[in-house]
Amino acid sequence: MRADRAPSSVRLVAVTKHFPVSAVSEAVGLGLRVFGESYVGEAAAKRETILRETTPSSSVSWHLIGHLQRNKVKKAVAVFDCIHSIDSIALAGEVDAHAARAGKIQDVLIQVKLSEEDTKTGIEEDGVLALAERITSFNKNLNLIGLMAMPPFFEDPEQSRPYFRRLKDIRDTLTGRGIALTELSMGMSNDFETAVEEGATMVRIGSEIFGER
Ligand SMILES: *Cc1c(COP(=O)(O)O)cnc(C)c1O
Repeated sequence: MRADRAPSSVRLVAVTKHFPVSAVSEAVGLGLRVFGESYVGEAAAKRETILRETTPSSSVSWHLIGHLQRNKVKKAVAVFDCIHSIDSIALAGEVDAHAARAGKIQDVLIQVKLSEEDTKTGIEEDGVLALAERITSFNKNLNLIGLMAMPPFFEDPEQSRPYFRRLKDIRDTLTGRGIALTELSMGMSNDFETAVEEGATMVRIGSEIFGER
């Protein structure tokens, strides 16, 4: 394998936003188990249907990869096994509070904004350490497992490489500060191979699996 990495070290998050629940059912039938959604309401509805269709042992899990609005936190905690888009101390606090009420330890990632052209969401690089320290020391019901980023779109995936490297560097810096994070959520349909070469542990792929939306 080009990146010299074990296939089991990279998890595929199949991104089903805007695709009908039948696409999810079909993917479950083919063996996919981890689904990424951008909207809380859309994911909640699909999850209900999939729960009805499958046995609990098939253990399908749902990841929120879109921006999380404060008024959707309670529902998000009920629906998602993992939230990739924590981008402020306030949001982390809110998720922690709802997870505590639900008696849940919520897996989360910090979404990092790596460039100005980047999507509007994500925390600026210089705020990541403070947010990570805050989550790990104050938020009892959050389990911080990694970092997520979404570079600007490039036709040529080579142009995404410096962004992926940067996210890994930030992760290594946090590790140096005693905050060991295992997950790097980076890479989409057009650039996931580059992301894997640069250390991605979760790739978020939609159109390459399900076709154009
Ligand atoms: C839609 C989306 C993806 C998947 O994009 P594709 O190009 O369809 O693979 C990945 N990550 C995020 C945050 C998304 O919103």
